[in-house]
Amino acid sequence: MRGMVLFPHMTLNFDAARDVSVKALEAAASENSTVLLAAQKDISTEDPSFDDLYVMGTIAVIKQVMRMPGGVTRVIVRGIKRAEIVECYADKGYLRAGVIEYDDVLGGSALVREAYMKRLRKAYEEYFSQNPKLTADNFMRVMSVYDLGELCDTVAAEVELDVASKQSLLDETDVSKRVEQLIIYIQNQLEVLKIERQIAQKVKERVDRNQREYYLREQLHVIQEELGDGDGVKEETDEYIKKINKLKAPKDTKEKLLKEADRFSKMPASTAESAVIRTYLDTVLDLPWNKSTKEDFDIKKAEQILEEDHYGLEKVKERILEYLAVRRLTEGKSSAILCLAGPPGVGKTSVAKSVARALGRKYVRISLGGIHDESDIRGHRKTYIGAMEGRIMAAMKEAKTKNPLILLDEIDKMGADYKGDPSAALLEVLDYEQNAAFRDHYIEVPFDLSKVLFITTANTLDTVSRPLLDRMEVIKLSGYTSSEKFHIAKDYLVKKAVKNNGLKPSQINIADAAIKRIIDCYTREAGVRKLEQSIGKICRKAAKQLLETNKKSVRITSKNLEDYLGKERYHFDAMNEHDEVGVARGLAWTSVGGETLSVEVSVMPGSGKVELTGKLGDVMKESASAAISYIRANSKALGISETFHKTKDIHIHVPEGAVPKDGPSAGITMATAVVSALTESPVRNDIAMTGEITLRGRVLPIGGLKEKSLAAYRAGITDIIIPEENKPDIDDVPREIRDKLNFIPVSSMDTVLRNALR
Ligand code: ADP
Repeated sequence: MRGMVLFPHMTLNFDAARDVSVKALEAAASENSTVLLAAQKDISTEDPSFDDLYVMGTIAVIKQVMRMPGGVTRVIVRGIKRAEIVECYADKGYLRAGVIEYDDVLGGSALVREAYMKRLRKAYEEYFSQNPKLTADNFMRVMSVYDLGELCDTVAAEVELDVASKQSLLDETDVSKRVEQLIIYIQNQLEVLKIERQIAQKVKERVDRNQREYYLREQLHVIQEELGDGDGVKEETDEYIKKINKLKAPKDTKEKLLKEADRFSKMPASTAESAVIRTYLDTVLDLPWNKSTKEDFDIKKAEQILEEDHYGLEKVKERILEYLAVRRLTEGKSSAILCLAGPPGVGKTSVAKSVARALGRKYVRISLGGIHDESDIRGHRKTYIGAMEGRIMAAMKEAKTKNPLILLDEIDKMGADYKGDPSAALLEVLDYEQNAAFRDHYIEVPFDLSKVLFITTANTLDTVSRPLLDRMEVIKLSGYTSSEKFHIAKDYLVKKAVKNNGLKPSQINIADAAIKRIIDCYTREAGVRKLEQSIGKICRKAAKQLLETNKKSVRITSKNLEDYLGKERYHFDAMNEHDEVGVARGLAWTSVGGETLSVEVSVMPGSGKVELTGKLGDVMKESASAAISYIRANSKALGISETFHKTKDIHIHVPEGAVPKDGPSAGITMATAVVSALTESPVRNDIAMTGEITLRGRVLPIGGLKEKSLAAYRAGITDIIIPEENKPDIDDVPREIRDKLNFIPVSSMDTVLRNALR
C-alpha cells in the first residue's frame, strides 16, 4: 500500500492499479480471501521488494473486488489483526509472505484500562471539536467502541497522521503503550490545529481590513448609482474641496473643512446627516474669508456725509469724527466701541449708517432686543437639530466682506437667563484682543472679526451690564427741541417721505405751520419717529388724492391737517392761569422726553392721615414721605402748627398723564405744595421745579435737565428751580430756550420756598 496504513477492525476502500497488487488480490480471492496489507516505506518506490515494506502489516478479508474501466481494480477490505512478515516469496508474479499473527497485549487492571479509555476518549473529543472535517458519523463510530485496543485503532485511523506515525502505532502490540503514543500524537495535532487557526485568523483580519473597506465603498457606489445620486455627491465634494483650498484661512481650518468634505463624500446624499454637513459647509464657505472693501477714510469727506444726512447733532458729529480720527491713527487697535445712547427716533441708527457710508464699509444691523441666550450670539453646536450659526456670523455672511460696520442695535434690551449670558459672549466679540479668532459654536473654526467696526445703540444705559459698558465709549443723543424737529422735518423727513411714496416735490406742499402743528399736537416724543410716520401718512393720503381728483398738486396747511391725520392727540399742559394754593408744578423726564406735572395737595381737618393718589411709582411715594417728615421737623420755622400731623389729613394727588412718571426728582415739588396748602400761601404760576429732597432739607441733583427745560418752555413757564449741582448742565440746553428761561439754582428747601411761594 502506498501512503496508507490499515488498522485491524477498519474497513478500507482502495484502488489497486499495479500489476503485482492486482495479481495478489486475484490469487487471494480465489483461495481464502485473506491478504496481508503492508505499507511501503517510501511512497515513490514504483516496484517495491520486501525490503521496501514495513514488516508489520494487517491481515484483511476481501469484501468485494470490482473491475473498473481503465484496468483499475477497486477493493473493499476489512482489517482482522496485526501480523509480522517473517518469510517472503516472490515466485508467482506477486508477493507472498509467511507471518506471525499478533493479538493485542492488554496489561494492567480493568480500572487502569478504564482510565486509559476515558483519557483517550477525552483526547478524541477535543480533537473532534477542533477539527471541522470530522462529522457526527465519525464521532458515533468512535464512541460506540468499548474495547481499548479496538478504540485505539479506530481513533488512530481517524486522526490525521503521516504514514510513519501510523505505522508506529501499528507496530505497537502493547495496548497501553499504543494509547499513550496516540494521545501524544493527538496533542501534537491539536497544537498544529491551533497554530493553523491563528495563522488563518491573522491572514483573514489583514485581508478583511483592506477588503472590507474596498468592498463596502464599492457597494455604496452601486447603491448610490441605483438611487441616482451617486455622481452628484462626487461632483459636489470636488467643488467643496476646490473652494476650501482657495480660502484665505489658517491651515488647521482648512484641514478641518477638508475632513468634513471627506465625510460628506462617504455619505449617501439622501441621509439627514449628509444634509447637515452640506448646510455646514455651505455656511462656512459663504463667510467672507477672502473679501474686504477698501477703506478710504478722509475726515473732510466723513464730516460732509454726516452733515448731509443729519441736521443739528453738533456734539454727536464732533465726537464721532474724533473717534474715527483716533481709530485711524491707531489703525483700529485699542479703540473702544462706540455706543450711541438716547430715546427712540433720535437718529442713532441713521448716524451709524452714515458712518458706514463715510468709511465705505458695508452696513449690517443686528437687533439684540429680546435676546437672552448665549447661543443667539454664538450659535448652536451642529449636533443639535436645526442648529444655526449665531447672529454675528449670520451678519458676516450677509455683509459678504471681512470689514463691515455692524450695528448692534438695542444692546440694553438684551437679557440673561439660565442658558448663559449673551453679554459675556458679546464681550468677546467686542474685545479686540480676542475677536481675531472668534469661535462660533456652529462654525467651529475660528473667524477673524478684528477688521469689523462695531457700533452699539441703547435707549438707556441702566440695564447694560457693567463690563460691557466699560468697553464702550458712550455718545448721548438726547431729544430734539420743537424747532430742531421742525428743521429735520422740513429739510429731511418731508423730502424722504415724498420720494418714498412716489411723489414729485412739485406735487405736494406742506406748510410750515402744518409741520409745527404736527410736532406739537400729533406727536409727543423725544425723537422724530412718530413725526416721520405722520408725514408718511400725509404723503400716502396725498398720493391717493392726486390720482382720484386729477389735481396737479396738494397743499397741506394747519387748517386742513385734520383731514389727513385725524383729530389732534396731545395738548400741552399750559401753565396755570393764576397763582394757586396747594398746587406746585414739577418737571419729569420720561422715555419720550420731558413733561411738566402738577402736584395738588388738599388739607382737611382730621386725624393725621396721609393719602397719595394718581399714577405714582415707588420712588414718588418715598419722596412724599420724605417731604412730610421734613415739614414736621421744621414746622416752627415754616410757621405751621406743630400738631398738624395729628389734627389734619393730607391728600396728595398727581393727575394721571399719558405716561407713568417715576424717578427721584419730585421731592421739592411735593414739599412746596404741602407747605403751600398748610400755610395757605399760593405758589407762583410761572415757576416750575425739579429736585429731590433729604430729611434735612437739602436739594439733590437730577437728570435730564435739557428735556425738562424744553417741557417748561413749551408750557409757558419763565422760571425754573434746579438743584445747585445741576448748574453745569445748563450749557446743554439749546440756546434759544436757555435765553428765555430764568434758572434758579438752589441747595436747600428754604430757598425753594422763598422763590416759589408768594
Ligand atoms: P433711532 O435709531 O435712534 O431709534 P433712527 O435712526 O431710526 O432712530 O431715526 C428715525 C428717523 O429719523 C430716521 O429716518 C432718521 O433719518 C431720522 N432722523 C433722526 N435724526 C435726524 C437728524 N438729526 N437729521 C435728519 N434726520 C434724522
